[in-house]
Amino acid sequence: MIGNAVKTILLDNEENFLIPDDKVAHVMDINPLNHALLVLTKVKYTRIPVLNKEGEIVGLVGLSEIVNAMFDLTEIDPDNLTDLLVKDVMETEIKTITKPYDIEYILHLLVDNSFIPLVDEENRFAGIVTRKEILKSVNQLAHTLENHYTLTEKKNTERKIS
Ligand code: AMP
Repeated sequence: MIGNAVKTILLDNEENFLIPDDKVAHVMDINPLNHALLVLTKVKYTRIPVLNKEGEIVGLVGLSEIVNAMFDLTEIDPDNLTDLLVKDVMETEIKTITKPYDIEYILHLLVDNSFIPLVDEENRFAGIVTRKEILKSVNQLAHTLENHYTLTEKKNTERKIS
């Protein structure tokens, strides 16, 4: 469990955590793969959110899914770029977060994900929290914790990373 002192400093940067939905590149689930390939190539991100027409996040799509879909068993079939839709290849097992931020859960998720989508009370996509922004807070924590708190080492306690 993260202690209150650490949580307070980490949440100092809270207002900068979020890249709001209007600044996040995304594709729609019903877009053909060639559109997704175009967007990914232009924005230079390897993975972006997929939204449905209700504005909900329904998946993530990246270059790896698209390139994979172009390969048949033995050859590349470029027709798949027009025949298949984003929803046919996107990753659907995604974890989302809501406000207020649960910093412990976010840190846990960012171990394996470079960004986490945020949804509002109506489950609509509201933006992303990225590993980079959270790392900035962790950096600040490392630099300022001892300015605000006096740390004394407890004897006979085990330090364990989990
Ligand atoms: P960063 O921590 O800034 O490197 O971002 C981590 C990942 O979040 C990127 O690789 C993208 O997949 C995603 N990402 C960051 N910013 C955006 C954005 N403006 N639009 C879409 N995806 C983004």
